[in-house]
Amino acid sequence: AEAVVIRGLNKQFSSPDSPDRTVHAVRDVNLTVEPGQLVTLLGPSGCGKTTLLRMIAGFEEPTSGDIMFGDRRMNDVAPNRRDAAMVFQSYAIFPHLSVYENVVFGLRLKSLPAADLKAKADRILEITGLTAMQNRSPNQLSGGQQQRVALARAIVMEPKVLLFDEPLSNLDAKLRETMRVEIRELQQRLGITALYVTHDQIEAMSISDRIVVMNGGVVEQVGAPWEVYARPATRFVADFIGKANFVPGKVVDGGVEIAGQKFSLAHPTDQPNGSDVELVLRPEAVALSADSGVFAATVKRAMFLGNVAEYLLEVDGIGEWLVDVSNPGEVGLHERGSRIFVSPSQASLHVLP
Ligand code: ADP
Ligand code: MG
Repeated sequence: AEAVVIRGLNKQFSSPDSPDRTVHAVRDVNLTVEPGQLVTLLGPSGCGKTTLLRMIAGFEEPTSGDIMFGDRRMNDVAPNRRDAAMVFQSYAIFPHLSVYENVVFGLRLKSLPAADLKAKADRILEITGLTAMQNRSPNQLSGGQQQRVALARAIVMEPKVLLFDEPLSNLDAKLRETMRVEIRELQQRLGITALYVTHDQIEAMSISDRIVVMNGGVVEQVGAPWEVYARPATRFVADFIGKANFVPGKVVDGGVEIAGQKFSLAHPTDQPNGSDVELVLRPEAVALSADSGVFAATVKRAMFLGNVAEYLLEVDGIGEWLVDVSNPGEVGLHERGSRIFVSPSQASLHVLP
């Protein structure tokens, strides 16, 4: 496996609407993907994910910056010579060819001995679970099976780098969950370096070694899934990944004060004593009780979602909070309008830098 290193990468397009204007799609991106890791580019539509991936594949030329695979600079290397394979949302499989012929399509261009070609194809059909349907035509396959053909066709080329652009967007929710586990297991088994584009934060968290959160062409944070969730670097990251309550506070003696109550911090902030800060408090990091707690609150909305109850509360003197209570089937819901108490978990309080 090979590292992918990106340095100072920029892409500017001339605007399709007014040619004298430019769209800065990717701005000053620096990123290292370690060999064998799966790194996800996560962000809302239009934030530059596809453009970044296409520059790595070689389909788009950077305005400035370097793309390295290992210690080889790739900028001037043609896409078909980069040892990178891309899997798309629209599977780009040929409807008139069988599964087998789709899978070996790229291999045929390499003029391998027939026995080698067959051996490689058999192995990939096996590990993608397509052996039994290798003679079918693609229109006799389900969406998930078609996506596996696209995957098989990419990995049969034994690329050093695998690139995925929202490969599961066309599948229904249940199948998306199964397929993302399959993709992750296969990537780890083969030990291929992979970049994976998605706008789905759960998908990103479930399959990634690290997540790159992008916004407006800029990388806002790079971190392990738990890091971007528990220690978001910006308000955007906190808001985009999961749900967040933003709570105003003040730094006091290394801890924080919220509405007159003092809390210690598990991770001290480097902001000076007395400064006003914004804290991120996740909905599941608040305990809720009918009898006692740190702050009093009124229930504005209560929703039973099975594994959790989701409350919208008006916390006295602070404002609205979302609070999730797990296993609500045991205790039932606090009704709209009822008075209750909430206690934030100190260990989960995170001061935005
Ligand atoms: P994402 O994949 O995150 O949805 P894209 O990389 O497709 O975002 O697009 C990033 C920005 O670059 C958008 O504003 C988009 O309109 C613009 N863009 C992408 N491709 C082109 C192009 N070929 N010409 C002009 N603008 C483009
Ligand atoms: Mg895209």
